[in-house]
Amino acid sequence: MKELFRERDSTIVGYYQSVLESEGIPTFIRNQNAVTMMGTEIPIPEFFPALCVVNDDDYDSAVAVIKERRNAENDAASAEEWTCENCNEANPGNFDICWSCETSQKPAE
Ligand SMILES: [Zn+2]
Repeated sequence: MKELFRERDSTIVGYYQSVLESEGIPTFIRNQNAVTMMGTEIPIPEFFPALCVVNDDDYDSAVAVIKERRNAENDAASAEEWTCENCNEANPGNFDICWSCETSQKPAE
């Protein structure tokens, strides 16, 4: 068993666990209940939930999956808002088509 990362927010750890499980990589969360068991938040990294791979052989592919996912999210978050040419509604940068009229976003020039 190898630890991939730990994160104070257990929803993030749980999210990446489901991402890896969907890739067929068995995972395991250490300290999943440590924070709630204590009743208060403990700002000590030792007690943060840690996502681990069950099989050490999966470690490299798990790291690759997490990196890829994080990059995709960074791209989405940094993508600029665009305005639909058809109906003039503003759309988030990670939307390919207008939420309002479903016109495709034109490639940026
Ligand atoms: Zn539109």
